[in-house]
Amino acid sequence: MVNERTAWDTLSSFLQERGVAYSGGISSPNRAFTSGSRLSPHLAWGTISSGSVFEELDRRREEFSLIKGPNPWRRSLRAFESRLHWRDHFVQRLEGSPQMEFSAINPAYDAIEYEDDSELLTAWTEGRTGYPLIDACMRCLGETGFMNFRMRAMVVSFACFGMHLSWRTIHGPLARMFLDYEPGIHISQLQMQAGITGINAIRVYSPTKQFLDHDPEGTFVKKWVPELRQHTPAEIAYAEEVRLAGYNPPVICIKERSKQMKERVYAIRRSVKGKKTSQEVLQKHGSRKGTGRVKRKKSTGLSTGQLALFKDSSP
Ligand SMILES: Cc1cc2nc3c(=O)[nH]c(=O)nc-3n(C[C@H](O)[C@H](O)[C@H](O)COP(=O)(O)OP(=O)(O)OC[C@H]3O[C@@H](n4cnc5c(N)ncnc54)[C@H](O)[C@@H]3O)c2cc1C
Repeated sequence: MVNERTAWDTLSSFLQERGVAYSGGISSPNRAFTSGSRLSPHLAWGTISSGSVFEELDRRREEFSLIKGPNPWRRSLRAFESRLHWRDHFVQRLEGSPQMEFSAINPAYDAIEYEDDSELLTAWTEGRTGYPLIDACMRCLGETGFMNFRMRAMVVSFACFGMHLSWRTIHGPLARMFLDYEPGIHISQLQMQAGITGINAIRVYSPTKQFLDHDPEGTFVKKWVPELRQHTPAEIAYAEEVRLAGYNPPVICIKERSKQMKERVYAIRRSVKGKKTSQEVLQKHGSRKGTGRVKRKKSTGLSTGQLALFKDSSP
């Protein structure tokens, strides 16, 4: 429930207990439900202010400053604080460039052609792509309104690079599903994961690798895709190559299709126009690290570099 009382309870349980496992925990689709702060719906809907969160964070830090020796909380709280700053950065970015809701932040990339096949869009939205981890994520999202950062990045990369669905096309369906929809963060991330900012690394996530790295026992996949429960993790990992009884065959070949889309994206990146507009984007939205930016008094370890904004783990 998204109300003021649950917001404060969520913040308190995070800062007192759950947050110790934040670093590392947020990359796992299983553990992020408890290791992450889970404050995103509250921050998005305004049931708590980011100022209150910063205040409580500072209070907790002061308590830890009295304890000598290594403490896993320190790293976790630093990583958490960075994300609160990223949030402000992205919200501010949309305030300053409202046109990015409809066109790429880097206009050269508006020329990319997407097929926008409506059947593929439906298969993706409903979690029927034939890729177990993608299907589990989309069904989990539909049911709970939540998914961790890494899985969000992976499903968007799959849609844009693999299915050739435009970031604009998937924006509405995702916004309706996320309980924490926050346009500033969401639109920036869609464009970054689609590889069209010109200033971020282009990363295409392999669902097989993500499964092996973050759900090797198949716990998450089996929870959300019951038709795979009788299969072994190895069969699930390579579902693309082995036909699994009772489960949809893959609707696309991710390797082939993402190669095609990467070529389209890199063609713009290499073009004269692409290089010029990327410079402009960097000027306007790039990192101001080391240029006399004002820092919060108690801030530590903040990194707002462009690479950091792209990642889900502390840089
Ligand atoms: C494609 C895509 C779409 C996303 N859409 C949204 C969205 O609509 N709303 C939203 O709140 N987050 C969005 N995120 C960022 C992130 O995935 C979620 O904020 C996070 O998973 C929420 O879980 P949490 O509250 O436990 O976050 P924590 O990890 O505990 O982080 C604390 C807070 O910091 C902010 N935050 C966390 N990660 C980021 C980030 N990478 N960039 C900016 N701010 C961040 C959120 O407000 C979050 O509640 C998106 C990420 C991707 C890749």
